[in-house]
Amino acid sequence: MKKIVFYLPLILALLVTGCANSPEKKQADEPATRNVIFLIGDGMGLNQILAAMTVHQGPLALEDATHVGIQKTHSANDYITDSAASGTAMACGTKTNNGAIGVDSTGLELVSILKRAEENGYATGLVSSSAITHATPASFIANEESRNDYEAIAADFLKTDIDVFIGGGQDHFYNREDGRDLTSDLEEKGYTVARSMAEVEKVTSGKLAGLTAAVHNPPAAEGRADMLPVATQKALDLLDDNPEGFFLMVEGSQIDWAGHANDEEYLISETLDFNKVVEIAMDFAKKDNETLVVITADHETGGFVVLNGNYQEQTVETTFTTGGHTGSMIPVFAYGPGAELFSGVYENTAFPERFSKAYGFTE
Ligand code: MG
Ligand code: ZN
Repeated sequence: MKKIVFYLPLILALLVTGCANSPEKKQADEPATRNVIFLIGDGMGLNQILAAMTVHQGPLALEDATHVGIQKTHSANDYITDSAASGTAMACGTKTNNGAIGVDSTGLELVSILKRAEENGYATGLVSSSAITHATPASFIANEESRNDYEAIAADFLKTDIDVFIGGGQDHFYNREDGRDLTSDLEEKGYTVARSMAEVEKVTSGKLAGLTAAVHNPPAAEGRADMLPVATQKALDLLDDNPEGFFLMVEGSQIDWAGHANDEEYLISETLDFNKVVEIAMDFAKKDNETLVVITADHETGGFVVLNGNYQEQTVETTFTTGGHTGSMIPVFAYGPGAELFSGVYENTAFPERFSKAYGFTE
């Protein structure tokens, strides 16, 4: 009895601190992923990466990945996917027909990982070097049967509470054929609407709609400069204000366009620009320790082959075998808490489920 009385204050103290800590305490088996940065190089297959790696001075940022996987990209109706079907698969976890954005092959609306993150209280963002309404970013936020319905895709942004988006697409938001101006709706919802990168850079808090070009931003080598890395850093700074955590998708859109054009110089320049984005994400994750970075592509473009190269001279000899996409399997590089979930060989529909698992979402 004496012993219990002696220990009673200690037992009470332990109980009280235990209760006070329990809501925030993570279970031992719960991964500590607070933030996800999902980086998609459109059309970036292994040979695109190899060419950029050979020409680059020093290793590419994705070489710091701790886990590597391989994904299969075919769509519901075609062995060769387009960016809408593959974007929808990676965003929503369902194979759909080429051309479809966030809907399945019967037209049923799907819920993307970005929307699941939003529903779970996370901040969300999209950044791209194309129009922000283009297939890849659109797959994370819109539900439209056709990727070409840009004005409808822009209007779908307003049905969400996305915190930050930066890319081209002014025409789809406020220079529309239907005459609607979505900037007033955006402002009503609390967004600062920025119409250039200079305006984007001035925003230091709150919700941001950054529309930096009439439709697409120009190539990096033809006036876009560091738009994509700067926009990525801005999105991270803004999203990181959310104590819950965030989901950010950034697309290097034009690696694909260089593949379609069979333009080696354009392809390498866009892949190296995308490398700057990967570097920013990796630096953020290394400092933060709670951020999962996943780098991949939606498909390969151009049937691009590195025939030969020279690391000392930083040169490559390459060829293209098509002006379209190929069925090539696509590498996935992962770093940070939850990275191990991205090892192995899997379908492109596996991403949302694995992100949810990393976050610990139950719904
Ligand atoms: Mg794309
Ligand atoms: Zn393409």
